[in-house]
Amino acid sequence: MDKNWKIETLAIQAGYEPENGASRVVPIVQSTTYKYDDVQSVADLFDLKREGFFYTRLANPTVDAFEKKIAAMEKGVAAVAVSSGQTANAFALMNIARAGDHVLALSSLYGGTVSLFTNTLKKAGIEITFVTPEMDEAAVNAAIRENTKAVFIEALANPALLVADFEMYAKVAHAHGVPLIVDNTFPTPILCRPFEFGADIVTHSTTKYIDGHATAVGGIIVEKGGFDWCNGKFPEFTEPDSSYHGLIYTRDFAAAPFSVKLRVQLVRDYGIPMMPFNAFLANLGTETLHLRMERHSSNALALAEFLRNHPKVSWVNYPGLPDNPEYGRVQKYFTGSMASGVLCFGVKGGRAAGEKVMNSLKLAAIVVHVADARTGVLHPASMTHRQLSEAELVAAGVSPDLIRVSVGLENIEDIKADFDQALARA
Ligand code: PLP
Repeated sequence: MDKNWKIETLAIQAGYEPENGASRVVPIVQSTTYKYDDVQSVADLFDLKREGFFYTRLANPTVDAFEKKIAAMEKGVAAVAVSSGQTANAFALMNIARAGDHVLALSSLYGGTVSLFTNTLKKAGIEITFVTPEMDEAAVNAAIRENTKAVFIEALANPALLVADFEMYAKVAHAHGVPLIVDNTFPTPILCRPFEFGADIVTHSTTKYIDGHATAVGGIIVEKGGFDWCNGKFPEFTEPDSSYHGLIYTRDFAAAPFSVKLRVQLVRDYGIPMMPFNAFLANLGTETLHLRMERHSSNALALAEFLRNHPKVSWVNYPGLPDNPEYGRVQKYFTGSMASGVLCFGVKGGRAAGEKVMNSLKLAAIVVHVADARTGVLHPASMTHRQLSEAELVAAGVSPDLIRVSVGLENIEDIKADFDQALARA
């Protein structure tokens, strides 16, 4: 791999370099185990003295190729692929914070992440408090505590479609010696590379655009490298790990201590890695990610313009519209001012009229998903965000009439015609 390759080339070529006569396409290594000739080889692998594969719960060649590709595209030093986006976000935090620690998060996160933070991680003793997108630097700064270990934001909030002010959150996090974690699922590395704006860790639900065809649930955590884990706040990185004969991550794996620790502690112990076939599908999807993100974005912009001129539509939110309040940040942080493929709108007549429109769509299907080739719609208040309280719904930017559209790759005229006929029935 050439380090100077552009992102489109990395999307296709990075992560796998076949030897003479080997499979041109990343092969699916559907094997839990790997054969060795002598005991010492395996002992060395267990002791992390050399790289290699010994059990697919920890690492697998197909998954490894995908990890290397996404790390290269995000311009990070390493990545660890896991079973889902939920696992990616949970592990990103659990690798840094433990019982008694605090994490600051942005309130406009995906509902599943809010639920993970406010229920499951809370039960594990990690306290997560939320700041709202309107809060300025001073207010965010004031919300940091003595025991805060990370700041967590979503690059493009699902479904509020707010673009996070990366540089501001990075500034606050770094002033307190803690990393900024960014869930970059919606923009993908094609539209946005959070490491360029101060992030230290990036997560993805690869289930979304990276796979792009709604075939495989998965997640990945990417490490930028260079974060100062030795500033006294992160003893698990700097003190001997008794489960690995006293290994010290920052000393023994200085280039990527976060990723090694995450893999050998969390992936090993909880046992939720990405599976080889899912890695194969996610890797295949990534090969066309640059082409798909362009078309998702241009189709979404065209549908947003169509809907907002429609007499039956009361409002449209798409950050790629030049008069959208988020557009300035889209221009600042997203490649080519492309704003990804998700838009939200409300129908005159509110929730009931909106449901009628959803039920009348023919090409667009009602699906609990975003980011695949087929256009899909969802009503967050009664689907993905249904576990959230009224207050949490407001904080997440979900109004009762909000319809979320994941604009697919079909011909835009067919997509518009479908919404037109469905709106005529409302
Ligand atoms: N992060 C974001 C922004 C999401 O939209 C989702 C799912 O919709 C997740 C994380 C969770 O990912 P998964 O469904 O792969 O667990």
